[in-house]
Amino acid sequence: MVDGHAPLRLLLIGSPGAGKGTQSSRIQDSFDVNSISSGDLLRRNIALGTDIGVQAAKEMKNGALVSDKVMVKLIDQELNKIGSQQSWLLDGFPRTMTQAQALDHTLESSNQPLNLVIHLNVPENVILQRIMDRWVHIPSGRVYNMTYNPPKRAGLDDVTGEPLERRPDDNPETFKIRLQKHHELTEPLLDYYKQRNILVSLAGNTSDEIYPQIRQLLQSRFKPEEEEKVEAGVV
Ligand code: AMP
Repeated sequence: MVDGHAPLRLLLIGSPGAGKGTQSSRIQDSFDVNSISSGDLLRRNIALGTDIGVQAAKEMKNGALVSDKVMVKLIDQELNKIGSQQSWLLDGFPRTMTQAQALDHTLESSNQPLNLVIHLNVPENVILQRIMDRWVHIPSGRVYNMTYNPPKRAGLDDVTGEPLERRPDDNPETFKIRLQKHHELTEPLLDYYKQRNILVSLAGNTSDEIYPQIRQLLQSRFKPEEEEKVEAGVV
């Protein structure tokens, strides 16, 4: 709950490699929040060979964005699965103004507007190195970094023991295109949310530096569940 009454409806915005997936996992470890990651959804569709996966694979491999129409439908479907009184966060969506407006439209029609947007502000010069060090567990979306957050057993997911993979779009050439798309299409959203007074920008070089700031921010707005989890010994 935010301010003790409204559920949290949070966006995580950051350039590729800024740590959206890592922060999303950490938030879920401490708070009672459903998480929807657009990139994980697409990767799962690719792994399952669905029509959406087949369509999206080429764009993703090249660092381009998947069409707004496909993305809006995919996210709407996921949001529909979450009850209106439950908290949620979106990681990687919206990424364009068209997506942002479509999301607002969906949320306003159910009277559940966004109440927080966190911008992960990580310097570009550290991001490429982080991406080159990144391994993921595709079915769950769990992200590991060989320097900051290695798996307990080399090459294997901590929870399932299944093999970790490199993302086909985590290479310097594709990264450059993804970064360019971010500057061109996603960064304008920061102003859009700033004007609505729901944007908080948190800076740091690593996810370890940024997470305590997120935790503090959410604790101040999210007391009831947090205290419950602490009392129950979950945190
Ligand atoms: P991510 O895992 O968030 O880095 O996303 C990986 C890739 O999935 C992106 O480079 C895009 O090709 C695609 N993608 C993820 N989210 C979106 C979105 N909201 N709109 C368009 N394409 C997306």
